[in-house]
Amino acid sequence: VGTLEELTAAIKWDANGLVPAIVQDAASKDVLMMAYMNRESLKLTLESDETWFWSRSRSELWHKGATSGHVQKVKALKYDCDGDTLLVLVDQAGPACHTGRYSCFYNEMKLGALADGGEAAAESKSADRFAMLGRLESVIAQRDAERPEGAYTTYLFEKGIDKILKKVGEETAEVIIAAKNRDNDELRYEASDLIFHLMVLLREAKLPLDEVMRELDRRHKK
Ligand code: AMP
Ligand code: ZN
Ligand code: ZN
Ligand code: ZN
Repeated sequence: VGTLEELTAAIKWDANGLVPAIVQDAASKDVLMMAYMNRESLKLTLESDETWFWSRSRSELWHKGATSGHVQKVKALKYDCDGDTLLVLVDQAGPACHTGRYSCFYNEMKLGALADGGEAAAESKSADRFAMLGRLESVIAQRDAERPEGAYTTYLFEKGIDKILKKVGEETAEVIIAAKNRDNDELRYEASDLIFHLMVLLREAKLPLDEVMRELDRRHKK
């Protein structure tokens, strides 16, 4: 336990007494939004374990989710090397953006449009084939937040944990049958089904894929 002054001694408030706070999904690690905190909102955040900001447009303290219900449960609060930026890791209920999107950062600027070499950078993004799992984790987190109508992932989250567990069980059985049949076309298909449903289950449980990877890594190093 410490005083607010001790906890926030390293924070460099700007001329208006504000510090930018980047909000990140604690499980998928997606960047969700950026907003400003002042001393009072940081105090309220530390006291309540839910995010509070200072709304510059409305000039008032703002409890994220107060009207939308899309509150952010704080899992960790970090600040950078020179104390001028906060990083808040949260469990986000529903979309973080007031537009209904999972993340505020849904606009993308085309790389390579202004200079040569940009396209190479865009290409290297897909070089690591296991990066697919990270992208899948983000898409599932987005579906969980936005619940787009007609999406199968939406259906799974709406049905809930028992439905997800049933699917994991079914797909496991299908993997076993495919392997028994010595049919690798079937096995590729069913293994993909199983991994997808397992990832939905991890999201439901709020267990980051990172933690599973680190567990595997620990075993490997033994
Ligand atoms: P909420 O805090 O989610 O209840 O939303 C209340 C109001 O805060 C919205 O009508 C927006 O004006 C604003 N707001 C909510 N989320 C964001 C965000 N991610 N970025 C900027 N403004 C937001
Ligand atoms: Zn900095
Ligand atoms: Zn937004
Ligand atoms: Zn299947």
